[in-house]
Amino acid sequence: MSMVSNIKLIDENGLRIDGRKFNELRPIKIEVGVLNRADGSAYIEWGGNKIIVAVYGPREAFPKHTQNPSRAIVNARYNMAAFSVDERKRPGPDRRAIEISKIIGEALESAIFVEQYPRTSIDVYIEVLQADAGTRIAGLTAASVALADAGIPMKDMIVGCASGKVDGKIVLDLNKEEDNYGQADVPLAIIPRTQEVVLLQMDGNLTREEFEQAIEMSKKAALFISNLQKEALLAKYSRPEEKEEVKEEAEQENHGDDDHE
Ligand code: ADP
Repeated sequence: MSMVSNIKLIDENGLRIDGRKFNELRPIKIEVGVLNRADGSAYIEWGGNKIIVAVYGPREAFPKHTQNPSRAIVNARYNMAAFSVDERKRPGPDRRAIEISKIIGEALESAIFVEQYPRTSIDVYIEVLQADAGTRIAGLTAASVALADAGIPMKDMIVGCASGKVDGKIVLDLNKEEDNYGQADVPLAIIPRTQEVVLLQMDGNLTREEFEQAIEMSKKAALFISNLQKEALLAKYSRPEEKEEVKEEAEQENHGDDDHE
């Protein structure tokens, strides 16, 4: 972000290095229910980002002293795989991962009806397999879908997007080069139903006007991504194999030990 360079990030036609217009998102693909042992799971591809999320809970919080008698605690853990970036990333939590885990956890907590599950924990594991800028928002967006897949009651699925400043222009959804050599990056996440802002950060400098322009653009994109989240959930529950499982369960309930086929 602070790096100064002569790299040209926007060409004479106003197109960015990956060919996008200033207000264009990278391609986004969301898949729900990708892990068998988790209570809820999701996989997101967002530009060059590949992130998988597993949700466990609500389950009895352990160790016991962490239990809150009036609500569930939300533990989010953001982790970047050693192979997720160009140069091997040293495994384990660094300052950045601890910060991102904290802000994602706080955001999720503000959407979940935590008071419905006293003494429990809801554990959210965000594993970044490939990173290309914007992973905190992509991870949070996928985490909300995984929570919904786990059946955890929420105000709505949190969704977000970042905008920033590149070559003096405000652009949507920065990629890695834009994040590295741009002038500012502003990740934003909202609860669409209530319009609450649950995550907002700023790296770099913007004027007030630029800031407002960035927020406006991110919010609009977030509402678009919100639809992708819902479509992904619907797609899981209309997949043929899922229907088959439901049918088998129903048959087992009806016939008991009668299992000839
Ligand atoms: P976000 O991924 O939410 O944009 P940052 O702005 O901190 O968060 O990081 C931007 C990008 O920088 C990441 O998505 C990743 O591609 C890259 N990056 C972050 N940490 C490292 C690291 N330790 N080594 C190499 N690249 C990294």
